[in-house]
Amino acid sequence: ASVFAGLTPKAPDSLLSLIGAYRRDPRAEKIDLGVGVFRDDAGATPVLDCVKAAEQLLLNSQSTKAYLGPEGDFGFLDLLKPIIFGDLVSHEVFAVQTPGGTGAVRLACELLQAAKPDLRVFIGAPTWPNHTQILDQLGLETVTFRHYDQRAQRLCFDEMMATLETAGAGDVVLLHGCCHNPSGADYSLEQWAAIAELVGRKGLVPLIDLAYQGLGLGLDEDAAGARLVLAAAQDGLLAYSCDKNFGLYRERVGALYTLTRDAAALDVAASNIRALARTNWSMPPDHGAAVVRVVLESEALTALWRSELEAMRARVADLRQRLAAAVPLLAPLGGQHGLFGLLPLSPAQVAQLREDHGIYMAGSGRINLAGLTASNIDTFARALNACLQ
Ligand code: PMP
Repeated sequence: ASVFAGLTPKAPDSLLSLIGAYRRDPRAEKIDLGVGVFRDDAGATPVLDCVKAAEQLLLNSQSTKAYLGPEGDFGFLDLLKPIIFGDLVSHEVFAVQTPGGTGAVRLACELLQAAKPDLRVFIGAPTWPNHTQILDQLGLETVTFRHYDQRAQRLCFDEMMATLETAGAGDVVLLHGCCHNPSGADYSLEQWAAIAELVGRKGLVPLIDLAYQGLGLGLDEDAAGARLVLAAAQDGLLAYSCDKNFGLYRERVGALYTLTRDAAALDVAASNIRALARTNWSMPPDHGAAVVRVVLESEALTALWRSELEAMRARVADLRQRLAAAVPLLAPLGGQHGLFGLLPLSPAQVAQLREDHGIYMAGSGRINLAGLTASNIDTFARALNACLQ
């Protein structure tokens, strides 16, 4: 018998199966609101002009593909730092490049586990499914708080704070920096300040997942909460992705920033991070991070990036406002941020929208607003108004 015969089959990723079903659907008017990538009004996910220009420069100037080292591209890591952290200078920081934001989250969880195997990780529900999968696979203990009430379409802030009050020193709280996936429900600045106060008072370790900076309210606005919470913490981790805000998805561009007020502890943490990276991927993929570095080294390309990012941000924000206005029962969408919305639909209603109208969204009721266009938004709003009756 095969060595693999003893494996338990795993369910395929449901979002990825949705792509196949969408492709096979022959209806011309079908609408894809599934996978979380930016799309323009023609439904395309184009390569940014700043990326094309940087790739051209790299092509002409790169003289070697020799290994860089476990930390990856130092220029990339340094140039991103002020964009993420602003003038936060209270901590010592160690940065490593990772394969996407996923690699950063994974590395952060492995580091925390090595540091304190009995710590608990407080996570919101719902959250990005891979958060739970990574934590479960590592065998870390999780404590779940309700982040969002899907029926009532509102943040459950008081519940979250009450649960966090039960955390102890060294426990971890995993927070979405902005553009919460899947709900779009972010904390206000006042709420971030309350989280920061609690994190400081209890000695919690914030693990902040910042995968959509610049796609919510703007680059600084989207990092403001993370900066407040980190400033209040002894130690913190920030998992970053450039895959959305530079449109580099398949290039797998991410970074993990480890912060502490204790310089000696940082050296030990850094040696552990390098060792963990070594056993996972040895060294991160280069191309995407090199592209980001070349963009950020150039004033002109940085300005171009900022304007292209702002155009993406404005497009999704506009679609969000238009949908909220066209479907009165979805008014709360208008106060949320980023690519996603979690609609108050049952799995049966999600299936019905797919069967009757060729509208594809995650089974949870999550939509990617960027899949809406000038030509399909009215159809979608009409179908929702009928379905939500
Ligand atoms: N965190 C969150 C909340 C995400 O939504 C994503 C992407 N779906 C990631 C991290 C990871 O992004 P990537 O690995 O593609 O950079």
